[in-house]
Amino acid sequence: MKRIGLLGGMSWESSIEYERLINTEVRQRLGGTHSADLIIRSFDFAEIEALQATGRWEAAADVLAGAARDLAHAGAQLLVLCTNTMHRVADAIEAATEVPFLHIADATATAVQRAGVQRVGLLGTRYTMEQAFYRDRLHQRHGLDVLVPDEPDRTTVHDVIYGELVRGVVRPESKAAYLGVIEELLARGAEGVIAGCTEIELLVGPDDVPVPYFPTTRLHALAAVDAALSE
Ligand code: GLU
Repeated sequence: MKRIGLLGGMSWESSIEYERLINTEVRQRLGGTHSADLIIRSFDFAEIEALQATGRWEAAADVLAGAARDLAHAGAQLLVLCTNTMHRVADAIEAATEVPFLHIADATATAVQRAGVQRVGLLGTRYTMEQAFYRDRLHQRHGLDVLVPDEPDRTTVHDVIYGELVRGVVRPESKAAYLGVIEELLARGAEGVIAGCTEIELLVGPDDVPVPYFPTTRLHALAAVDAALSE
């Protein structure tokens, strides 16, 4: 079993889900008292959020690339970045070490394709919904058609993430608002929905949505176990 290095704390509300999902899956597959071999680097999210909010992506890239090197020196054999948004700087992380990096959009796109979904709605932070790094990867590498909410829905989705979910606040009103945004995406032709922020599945689960639902934390965590247990 390979040792997985988790770049987490963005936020820790979802990182603990990664840890739980990965350990649960390893126990299920290997049985007995088995659990995952993990190293976790958990950031103070306030520092990362400040870099995002002021557009200092290069500084964020340096921080995460440095942490990736630390994990590599500590023996990580696989790197997992536990946030969709910070895949904005995935290239810098990948370039920092020789250790394989498991991109969250690739793990997600594989599941979308397996479900036979072509046109998919994407919920996430403003950065993930509006910038090219995520949508283009889904479209150009995986051939998916990606729909994002119009305004003011994008603001609603973004504000619930930063104002509530990363702070451990889960409100039924916000869940209802998200379901309204999803309904709108379905009316525009989405055949499935990507929960493209690692905290969203704490608010909305697959049973809440009438079409295939792609929770990135779960999909990424399971892909990490696949990779860790492969030869
Ligand atoms: N965890 C979130 C994501 O998957 C948002 C927090 C962050 O900006 O890293 O995008």
